[in-house]
Amino acid sequence: MFIDSHVHLFFEGSDPEEFFLGCSRAGVNIFGKDKPPDQRQDASQLYDQQMAILSDKDGSRLISEMDKANIEKAIMLPLDFWLKYPTTEHQGMSIKEKNNIYADVVERYPDRLKTHFGVDPRRKDAVKMLDEAMKKWEPVGLKIHPTAGFYPDDPLCYPLYERAIDYGLPILIHSGQEPAPMGVKWSHPMYIDTVAAEYPEATIIIAHCGHGWWRQALDFAIMKPNLYVDFSGWQPLLKVNPDYFWRPLRMAFDTLGPWRVLFGTDGSMLDVFLSTKKWAKAAANPSKSTDIEFTENEIEIFMGKAAKKLYNL
Ligand SMILES: [Zn+2]
Repeated sequence: MFIDSHVHLFFEGSDPEEFFLGCSRAGVNIFGKDKPPDQRQDASQLYDQQMAILSDKDGSRLISEMDKANIEKAIMLPLDFWLKYPTTEHQGMSIKEKNNIYADVVERYPDRLKTHFGVDPRRKDAVKMLDEAMKKWEPVGLKIHPTAGFYPDDPLCYPLYERAIDYGLPILIHSGQEPAPMGVKWSHPMYIDTVAAEYPEATIIIAHCGHGWWRQALDFAIMKPNLYVDFSGWQPLLKVNPDYFWRPLRMAFDTLGPWRVLFGTDGSMLDVFLSTKKWAKAAANPSKSTDIEFTENEIEIFMGKAAKKLYNL
């Protein structure tokens, strides 16, 4: 049985439309990379198709994908992009409402799903909202997405981190690829390293192992045992060339050992590249797609035991 340590729920109004369109724009260009740019699918068309398939406000789609993929439990992560789009803020929903929807989904599937609390630390009431959430529905971590336009080592984030540390919550910080109009510079692992340095008592997860910054992410994590990495969202790279995924994963085990390296899907947006079932199956069976060697024990820890221990599941 596997654990998905990084998954989202998307549905109408859950996030700004610009973000969804940015994802679709990236998607059609990845799918159509061998065609001339003017012959690729229209991004808004893909957006409509995807929304119809991936929309999942009550978590039922997620559970059915997990069942197909032999994933026992998943850790959900609410995104807060709204401050990036001041003109559209709350045309969708408030971040409080969104976190409550995640909490409702956990209540529906308490044995299968847990959720982080997700908030932009620039919000004046961020700490208060975390306090309320802890009282009402006990999130299992704090999710931060700096590509909305702040550095994770900006001291304005620190009161929120300190509260999360008081509650014993791991802090997961996005790092690496993100479609326009979000900017990736904010999420370089270097800024996450500062947080790990300031708060050695905190458990901090560098999401996606920083994608293309994986060498830096691992390099920083070698010296800071409170840094973890997750390998969610690597489906497109595995598809392009399996060793684009296996080489960094091998390096992660060689440098950090398997207990600080977590499997995840980053679903449901990535399901269009590889279904959750295919991704979990590929990640659990290295020998099917690479000559790089992994032990059964390493893969077992990566696919579930590491997250089980981290989150006390
Ligand atoms: Zn994600």
